[in-house]
Amino acid sequence: MTKNIELAGSCQCGNAHYQIHSPSVVSVACHCNDCRKQSGSAFAVSLVVKSTDVTFSNNLKTWERMTDTGRRNRAWFCPDCGNRIYHQDPDAPTVVRIRAGTLDNEQIPEPMVHVFTARKVPWLTFPDHVTLFEGQPEVDQLYAALEEAAASSTKEES
Ligand SMILES: [Zn+2]
Ligand SMILES: [Zn+2]
Repeated sequence: MTKNIELAGSCQCGNAHYQIHSPSVVSVACHCNDCRKQSGSAFAVSLVVKSTDVTFSNNLKTWERMTDTGRRNRAWFCPDCGNRIYHQDPDAPTVVRIRAGTLDNEQIPEPMVHVFTARKVPWLTFPDHVTLFEGQPEVDQLYAALEEAAASSTKEES
């Protein structure tokens, strides 16, 4: 079954925006120190979307850093208000990770996968139905967990 869910998002000032055309959007929470610092909050929630399923406005600026695990992480943000919109590993360009809080409809999908749980804030507890990784999972492991989450959310909706 294919469903053309379309989601739209934008930065805080509205000058940067995007649209997602995808039958499935999977939400992942990351509890690493970088996500905490970058989001300015306790953890970050991202939507993992195929690069071909999303269109971004072309006015975004980029900044790149190396992760603890030696991967490149490039960030795209609004040049005017500085709102971070999405991240991507330039060596794995098939997916993007969009900051879920930038969605315009305020309906952030529940994260079914949590990574870097070893670094989470102590006051947060996880529901039983989510998949947890203490650190950064291998790419295969992460995609397997994401596919499982996408399959179960499709089941609930049909
Ligand atoms: Zn902006
Ligand atoms: Zn992180």
